[in-house]
Amino acid sequence: MDKTSPNHKASPNHKASPNHKASPNHFDTLAAHLGKNAYPESLVVHNDAAYWLTRTSSGKRLQLVSALAERLEAFEGQAEPFQDGTIKTCPLSDGNAAALRRVLPWLTPRPLSLTISAGFGDRLGLATPGHVRAMERAGDGIAPIFAQQSIREMTRTKRSPTDVMTDATWGAFEAGWRTNLGADADHLKTPDDIDRCVAAGFSFYTIDPGQYVDDEAHSAGAALVQEKVAALPWNELEGSPADLQQRYGGKVLRLNDRRLTIEPEGLWRAAAKYGRAVAHVTKLYRHLLSKGIAFELEVSVDETATPTSPLEHAYIALELTRLGVRWISLAPRFVGGFEKGIDYLGDLSALRDDLAAHNAVMRTLGPYKLSLHSGSDKFSVYPLIAEATGGLLHLKTAGTSYLEALRVTARHAPALFREILALARERFEIDRASYHISAQLSQVPDPAALSDHMLPGLLEDNDARQVLHVTFGSVLDSFKPQLVEVLAAHEEAHYEGLAEHFIKHLQPLVRYS
Ligand SMILES: [Zn+2]
Repeated sequence: MDKTSPNHKASPNHKASPNHKASPNHFDTLAAHLGKNAYPESLVVHNDAAYWLTRTSSGKRLQLVSALAERLEAFEGQAEPFQDGTIKTCPLSDGNAAALRRVLPWLTPRPLSLTISAGFGDRLGLATPGHVRAMERAGDGIAPIFAQQSIREMTRTKRSPTDVMTDATWGAFEAGWRTNLGADADHLKTPDDIDRCVAAGFSFYTIDPGQYVDDEAHSAGAALVQEKVAALPWNELEGSPADLQQRYGGKVLRLNDRRLTIEPEGLWRAAAKYGRAVAHVTKLYRHLLSKGIAFELEVSVDETATPTSPLEHAYIALELTRLGVRWISLAPRFVGGFEKGIDYLGDLSALRDDLAAHNAVMRTLGPYKLSLHSGSDKFSVYPLIAEATGGLLHLKTAGTSYLEALRVTARHAPALFREILALARERFEIDRASYHISAQLSQVPDPAALSDHMLPGLLEDNDARQVLHVTFGSVLDSFKPQLVEVLAAHEEAHYEGLAEHFIKHLQPLVRYS
């Protein structure tokens, strides 16, 4: 197996790869030494050193053993003699995570190319082992992104890009992930966002030019559309309205299963709506390029008020290509409702047609992957989008892992869950700003009115899910230590809950991998 191949498929026996298997030497005695506090899945022997994760009374620790002093140098921790070598016990610090990524290179995020892929955002930084379980059981051929967080979420959870990377590294290590992974710096809006994420080692950069998308152009009259076109930053677009008209106006794009005529009226509207966004993506892409790192770019216009038509998608792709931008995936705003934490709202046959049209544009002007944002819990959509794209797909999920953490809390720590729900109800109307959701607070019961055994049922209720989903920042501000404690005490239930939940996301995709 070649674990550097982007098409490498994770398989149940991937841990038997010769490089990583304990060799018949003194490492054999480790198993006995590890005892019940170690995470057996984490044990890996690589280049004359053994590494594993263990529980101690003061939290999790990395331990490593080697007879070669230089294998231990990069790690900060407590060293003691062990057989013919040294054992070192190390805190789960940023520095040790970075050192581990260097010595166990499969933990280093890297580009995943066109392989079907899935992103698992994790607001608490504790969910990756559950994500790994889901991948191992149902993700054959799917490339995972475990470290993924938008700048908005980092701000609300008070985590830095390095925190996100560190947590995902320890999680992947703990659960024994041994193949490719990526890391998604999600919804970046400024050069400064990019710089911070480059410094932390991210490999996948999602540029969100949403604030430059002019939704008013969607239905503006012809005169206003012309005004908007004239006001575009033509310098940055390296052209003029006349160039645009000459380049694309009236052209017929032969897409794989259809033709798309670029009517002048539609072209002007597309430019008015997305021209500034194209300029902004180009600027951020060039900034990223100047960093000299290996990366993949995603362009996301999903968080806008109006759907992206196939013609608008074509305009974006043609213009970005002309300006030299290269991207691996693009997230249009599809028709219908893609709200956080709940299934699709809308007409599935209209969505099927929309996906087919976007797929045609993507295959002809790319190929690249279509990216499904707010992609968690869209169980009615997965079969459609997997089939429409034939697996040229990236699925992005985020807050649903937090909801799984709350499910564990509702079951095992009802008093804490009541406090969380009460705060969520209080904060909802403020925290919902910037999210596309339709939850009604009046539909979410006062926790005082529910008995303990009714609490987990709230995680099945769309209104309650969304109220809990968007208030995570406020809840973590007040209750993060208590929540972390509950999840540590019920770690197995947390990981299994996540695994079961994500298997349902991955299964419909896996036959297209
Ligand atoms: Zn998004």
